[in-house]
Amino acid sequence: MPNQNRRFLLAERPDGPVDEKTFNLISDEIPSIVDGEALVRVKWISIDPTNRTWIGERPTYLPPVAIGEEMRALGLGEVIESKSDEYPVGTLVTGLTGWQDYMVTSAQMPLMKVPEGIPVEPQTLLGVLGMTGVTAYFGMLEIGEPKEGETVVVSAAAGAVGSVAGQLAKQRGARVVGIAGGPEKCAWLVDELGFDAAVDYKADDWRAQLKAATPDGIDVDFENVGGEIMEAVFSRLNLNARVVLCGLISGYNDKEPAPGPRSFGNLLVQRVKLQGFIILDYYPRFPEALEALGAMVAAGTLRSEETVVKGFEQLPRALNMLFAGENTGKLVVQIED
Ligand code: NDP
Repeated sequence: MPNQNRRFLLAERPDGPVDEKTFNLISDEIPSIVDGEALVRVKWISIDPTNRTWIGERPTYLPPVAIGEEMRALGLGEVIESKSDEYPVGTLVTGLTGWQDYMVTSAQMPLMKVPEGIPVEPQTLLGVLGMTGVTAYFGMLEIGEPKEGETVVVSAAAGAVGSVAGQLAKQRGARVVGIAGGPEKCAWLVDELGFDAAVDYKADDWRAQLKAATPDGIDVDFENVGGEIMEAVFSRLNLNARVVLCGLISGYNDKEPAPGPRSFGNLLVQRVKLQGFIILDYYPRFPEALEALGAMVAAGTLRSEETVVKGFEQLPRALNMLFAGENTGKLVVQIED
């Protein structure tokens, strides 16, 4: 274990992808604890598209990370020293750990305790059995409400949220079409996850592929991407379709928001219901979703996939990997074995 606490602090707001000027890597003393606190060794850090929105100029659902402040992120760690009855040594915890080796948890800075005896790899607790799995669960089942025989389209389908959202829609008997970058991801969606079809948005003929894959139009759009992909999907929405507005990753590296989709009028004509959501609002209901997802994983009816990057110094590079599509399933950085 390192005898210093490495931390990435925000140095400047990036213009585009993060680069070597975006963060300062510093090392300082491991924090000491007082009564009621526990020291957590952070072991895994979740890399999420929203990390990029937290360091940008535009307002989001949380205050931006301030210049000079430590980078905010979800993580998973283990209590290694404790003066708290709530967090005994050895407890696994998840929550906003930040990009650092150690953090102090207390009643004022709580982390969620991982229930004992869950038979999955730790990284799965940041993926299918973590925030992204829960996002797919509530987004698809409570907002999308797919029905048997309907056509569901999921963008960023080979990523953390999309891969779970598509599998859940499949379980409800829908015809599921994933949109992803490149033939390998598309083959993975169909051959491994059981999607009915996949559209490679990096191919020249992707619009024709989308049309061919959705001959009866689209009843549910689980929207993770925005931009041209969303515009093309909107133009194929059916009467009373639902749009689950989960994310708009294609614009997160841009200074200005993308112009509105030209096919927006189709939402009016087709009486479409569009709902944005932020998964934090569902926090009190996480246990219910995690129990259901855990049962599916245990029964082998829900596939979990992670891309693991090793090494604390890799954190900034890992963030850019999301925007280059270099992950399949949940992207996590392992900072200690
Ligand atoms: P992913 O694991 O899906 O990683 C992002 C993926 O997006 C990449 O793998 C890449 O796949 C694709 N992508 C990146 N840039 C583009 C682009 N310009 N055009 C098309 N595809 C692109 O991330 P998550 O599953 O964590 O997040 C997916 C979406 O869900 C994001 O928009 C995120 O902000 C949102 N989200 C929203 C939440 C909420 O509460 N509303 C909570 C969690 C996530 P490819 O190789 O296919 O290009």
